[in-house]
Amino acid sequence: MPDKTIDYDQPVFVAGHAGLAGSAIARRLRGEGFRKVIGVRSAELELRDSDRTWEFMAAHRPQIVVLAAARVGGIAANNAHPADFLSDNLRIQVSVMDAARRLGVPRLLFLGSSCIYPKHAPQPIRESTLLTGPLEQTNEAYAVAKIAGITQVRAVRRQDGLAWISAMPTNLYGPGDNFHPEHSHVLPGLIRRFHEAAESGAASVTVWGSGAPRREFLHADDLAAACTTLLRHYDDDDPINVGTGSDLSIAELASLIAEVTGYRGEIVFDPSRPDGTPRKVLDVSRMTALGWRPTIGLVEGIAATYKWFLDNRETVRG
Ligand code: GDP
Repeated sequence: MPDKTIDYDQPVFVAGHAGLAGSAIARRLRGEGFRKVIGVRSAELELRDSDRTWEFMAAHRPQIVVLAAARVGGIAANNAHPADFLSDNLRIQVSVMDAARRLGVPRLLFLGSSCIYPKHAPQPIRESTLLTGPLEQTNEAYAVAKIAGITQVRAVRRQDGLAWISAMPTNLYGPGDNFHPEHSHVLPGLIRRFHEAAESGAASVTVWGSGAPRREFLHADDLAAACTTLLRHYDDDDPINVGTGSDLSIAELASLIAEVTGYRGEIVFDPSRPDGTPRKVLDVSRMTALGWRPTIGLVEGIAATYKWFLDNRETVRG
């Protein structure tokens, strides 16, 4: 049902609309009735360039901005390129938020990440643990950039009185993911590795680290539904967690992916690869209090992502 209090003709800019999160959010906004959802490919607009970003946003005058653009990657990419993760994310955030501020955009949703929380935060992680302890080394640069983004949102709220908000999604996955063998996150990375092993009849598949770290995974479409819920109902200084509230070990995830991809060989672990943070599961009670619930189970979500991977084998990223 369309909500009569919402102007569905107001322009909404989804920065990062071609990415995993941004594409799901743009789809969801259109599905809910927003007629002017704007996106621009990075080949046409470099968001790190603040002058060009300003020109683009001044021309389109969005009333809502969803900042889902980011340089993202898995543990190996973060470990290998911390300077790029820090600089690119800071520049994207400052470009988009400064332009939005200059335009007085009344509503902006900034997407962070669950890696902003301290490495040894009590589990499940509450929003209030932000900045209470040291970060995980493997993604510290990325996390500091995202924490700067949260601080920028809060500062604009305080200084300009705009109703900007931040959401912290847990590890995302879904169609359109990055399946790069080295630089992706674990879930798409393992889909590709197990698929190729099943195809070639390999005797074993190597999974990085000990298999013991525990992670929580959220389908991008569930995140998108959370984002529109937040745009309707949330207006607070604090970032809000978006996750399922349940986790599993990397070894358990590997077994699930082996099952979905039809791989029947051995699974071996490579302890020379970093484990990263031991456990990362979010307390999502504030988000569920708004009436949102994740709807896509992990097995169903992995199967849908695997199907997308197979259907898009030629063009898949990575
Ligand atoms: P993180 O949540 O920031 O640590 O990001 P990742 O998704 O990259 O990694 C999650 C966990 O999965 C870490 O403990 C990795 O060592 C482990 N892992 C196991 N195999 C892989 C793989 O093939 N790719 C990635 N990215 N991680 C893997």
